[in-house]
Amino acid sequence: MTIRRHHIEVRGISIEVVRKNIKNLHLGVYPPNGRVRVAVPQRLDDDAVRLAVISHLKWIRTQQDRFEKQERQSQREMLTGESHYVEGRRYRLNIIEYDGPNRICLPNNRTLELRIRPGTDRDKREALLYRWYRQRLRAQIPPLITKWETKIGVTVVDWGIRKMKTRWGTCNINDRRIWLNLELAKKPAACLEYILVHEMVHLLERHHNERFQQLMSHFMPHWRLHREELNRAPLAHENWLY
Ligand SMILES: [Zn+2]
Repeated sequence: MTIRRHHIEVRGISIEVVRKNIKNLHLGVYPPNGRVRVAVPQRLDDDAVRLAVISHLKWIRTQQDRFEKQERQSQREMLTGESHYVEGRRYRLNIIEYDGPNRICLPNNRTLELRIRPGTDRDKREALLYRWYRQRLRAQIPPLITKWETKIGVTVVDWGIRKMKTRWGTCNINDRRIWLNLELAKKPAACLEYILVHEMVHLLERHHNERFQQLMSHFMPHWRLHREELNRAPLAHENWLY
């Protein structure tokens, strides 16, 4: 029995195609990362596979969401093979123990590489990762604040990043100080920008009232899309309404 396998990409999803001597096409989504594998008869070409995948796209995404949710609930061990998010994209953690300075980088668009000294424990690994997340946010935020200060016509006196359990951001209107949640480093850049704009709009309108919504829609017409994206996240035990 000849088995041939390769990968194709359909709507941003990587599909493993396995051709073998079978009668029917079989589509599966597998834990822990929601990997998609299609077993197909030899006679079916990749276009047929593509069609089958597209017609089951909704089902595939539902399965993947399920695995993702399960994964979010399980605590991270900070080991090679785990999934971690950076700016909305999923990366596979790769731990490299070596005798040199700690270093974190993204060598390609699917790998998050942690180079650490041998014997670095789980908590230290996580602390290093969060320090790296914080550095990334620190670099992203100032140009966004400058951009939106001009657009909205307000001034942010001070800002900071911290871990928060239930909020993506907060704004102290009197001090004109904004806090952003460190977890935003894991979300798409558009989500970070949305939260920042939300907090800055509070400098014009304190309450989540109709005027607030109108201001949001004026400055950021698609703000609701970003809110939905964030509501799909683990912090959503307090739903983000505006
Ligand atoms: Zn608010």
